[in-house]
Amino acid sequence: MQAEIICVGTELLLGQIINTNAAYLAEKLARLGIDLYHVSTVGDNLPRLTALLQQAWERVDLVLISGGLGPTLDDLTREAVALLAGEELVEDPGARRMIEEYFDRRGLPMPPGNLRQALRPRSAVCLMNPYGTAPGLWLEKDGKMLAALPGVPVEMKYLMEEEVLPRIDRVRAQTGRPGPVLVSRVLKMAGIGESAMAEKIQDLLAGQTNPTIAPLAKRGEVWLRLTAKAPSEEAALALIRPVEEAIRSRLAGYIFGTDGEQLEEVVGRILTARGLTLGTAESCTGGLLSHRITGVPGASAYFLAGVVAYDNRVKEKTLGVEKALLQEYGAVSPQVARAMAEGMRKNFGVDLALSTTGIAGPGGGTAKKPVGLVYLALAYPGGTVTREERFCWNRTENKIAAAQAGLVLLWQYLKGAFSGAEQEGH
Ligand code: ATP
Ligand code: MG
Repeated sequence: MQAEIICVGTELLLGQIINTNAAYLAEKLARLGIDLYHVSTVGDNLPRLTALLQQAWERVDLVLISGGLGPTLDDLTREAVALLAGEELVEDPGARRMIEEYFDRRGLPMPPGNLRQALRPRSAVCLMNPYGTAPGLWLEKDGKMLAALPGVPVEMKYLMEEEVLPRIDRVRAQTGRPGPVLVSRVLKMAGIGESAMAEKIQDLLAGQTNPTIAPLAKRGEVWLRLTAKAPSEEAALALIRPVEEAIRSRLAGYIFGTDGEQLEEVVGRILTARGLTLGTAESCTGGLLSHRITGVPGASAYFLAGVVAYDNRVKEKTLGVEKALLQEYGAVSPQVARAMAEGMRKNFGVDLALSTTGIAGPGGGTAKKPVGLVYLALAYPGGTVTREERFCWNRTENKIAAAQAGLVLLWQYLKGAFSGAEQEGH
């Protein structure tokens, strides 16, 4: 089976948004073992969109479209699909009800333009979208399939997973053409760099065939993606399992999770299981650390407080950092990082306190304390550990990296990296 992806939107052609939908859809197709030879982007232009659709429809079995299903006149995907199918647009009563209810629930009047979104080519099916007003479209005709999905990523993903993939599965089962599947599993690591990691599994990397092993360097994390090709998902997972075990036996201390798992979720699970509470005292990360921690459902079970202690007076007043310490070592110092974490722990009664202080940039750096210098500290029952990091990116990236480093430090403590009053730092 062959597929083609068409992304609609002048914004994409102008470089105003990144085409993440194409990447997402391509990954889904690869997983299913469906060949993808073309991904195209086209503006909000009916003749060009229709011509592109026509070409795709002639050369592949499955066409996936993203975008152009909105209520405005420059949203042309419905019209183009109707032209392709040679069918008139009719109103879908279920879709109309869905759109009316969407506005009802929000207590808003429905703009008349939104009713355009209830239209579908006569033989197409509307795919109901609980996240927005644009229903998707599904068309099966002449032995071929077409799905049109809204451009908004959360809506597109929902419809792809809940409505489109099951339909593709059904058609493939009917036509007896379930090809080989590609299954990937991602092992996520922290506290180790990409090349150090690669060195530990050099022989596995050199000898890889099925599954393939791909290292990916992320911000403060290293991932290994294992991808196997096999007739079924179970068979692919069976190929992955022994390789994963071999990798785990060498990198056990660094692997924190798999696939979609995030470090803050893993940390949250351990804190919950151990009944430990957490607080943050943030300077250079400006709340990013507590934002990530509270992004996890159930964080209220362990996260008690976060202070953004940006100004020195706040470090003194709220966290009890001594003025003398600030004067002697400066706010960006291991001594102040430690005092911030210990002050958070004491003043807020948390079991564990994480602090950040650093120079995010672009200004404020000196020869001794350059932009990107960050000190972190974790205060725990029995001690405090501090850590120095030197990042070299822009302000946004330095903040992200510092928050990530804080979570890594916390995770390393939770898995037993520091015991008693043992300390690390510079
Ligand atoms: P809606 O009814 O929600 O407007 P739509 O189908 O009309 O849906 P578009 O107008 O094409 O969708 O896009 C809506 C928004 O979705 C865009 O402004 C952009 O933020 C996002 N988006 C669209 N296409 C893509 C894409 N290919 N990759 C990532 N984001 C996209
Ligand atoms: Mg739109």
